[in-house]
Amino acid sequence: MIAIIAMLAAYFIGIRPLLVECDNSHHIDDTEELEKVQPVGPEFNADSAYAFVKAQCDFGPRAMNTDGHERCAQWIVSKFQQYQCKVTTQKAQLRGYDGTMLNATNIIAQYRPELTTRILLCAHWDSRPWADNDPDSANWRKPILAANDAASGVAVMMEIARLLNTPSAPNTQQPSPNIGVDFVCFDAEDWGIPMWYTGEDPGDTWALGAQYWSKNLPQGYEARYGILLDMVGGQGARFYQEGLSEEFAPEIVKKVWRAARQVGYGSYFPKKDGGRITDDHLPVNQYANIPTIDIIPYYPDCPQSSFGPTWHTLADDVEHIAPATLKAVGQTVIQTIWTEE
Ligand SMILES: [Zn+2]
Repeated sequence: MIAIIAMLAAYFIGIRPLLVECDNSHHIDDTEELEKVQPVGPEFNADSAYAFVKAQCDFGPRAMNTDGHERCAQWIVSKFQQYQCKVTTQKAQLRGYDGTMLNATNIIAQYRPELTTRILLCAHWDSRPWADNDPDSANWRKPILAANDAASGVAVMMEIARLLNTPSAPNTQQPSPNIGVDFVCFDAEDWGIPMWYTGEDPGDTWALGAQYWSKNLPQGYEARYGILLDMVGGQGARFYQEGLSEEFAPEIVKKVWRAARQVGYGSYFPKKDGGRITDDHLPVNQYANIPTIDIIPYYPDCPQSSFGPTWHTLADDVEHIAPATLKAVGQTVIQTIWTEE
């Protein structure tokens, strides 16, 4: 059996480059059954989303307890307000792995807060203070710009908020969905224990803002389901079906991956298993009891990281953002929300 497994492994490794393409073209998988549902909702504008990524990066690193962090929070609040969302902030002092107290702000922007049927979209907005996965060890304590690993998720949410607030053009049938949408920007996701730290690992050092939000929900808050967007702008990104999402919210995984095929982005969302990732969706599932999936990339052949070549490196900058990836994810989420009843 061992020999057979080894042979199979060699076979699969051999064909992987064919399965996981690195170009940004999109087509429907030949093996997928074409589904009858047409694309609905507005066209996701990748240039607008890209501009939202850049605007966040223009504040510099948005690491906890820094000036850039505070200024970017104000900007995020003002943008969601501009798109007629009701915005509240949830502030908390959270303890980092080394005892540092982190001044955290979760930002909650509600589209049509009066509606009781709601969908949760979420992403973290803080940036990692250390490029501890950079190929050059001289950079390991420098802050990253986090264009992908933070700004991309907020940017996709912001573009959807903009579109929800944009009246449809005459003679088009693009009614807004008759559901509420909550955009939650989690803080303090990426202050998890650095790779260079040699002290004791206290455990549970990631996703602190999402943990706090999930344990301190507004009275009676409910959402039908949630979608977490994490690193949704990388070049060559493919979004495999993440393990905890399949465990906690298998129907939502099916729904979103089906939506991707309906809008022609099935190749970005292979129906294959990614790993189990501890991310902001875990506390949302565990403590807030909202079935929530994670749209997060998986690069099986990338030596730097399975999260992609720029993960926690100084190369996570605006130049490495692919508008085509933002588009694939944004249009898929629009399809998911606009087909909701
Ligand atoms: Zn990160």
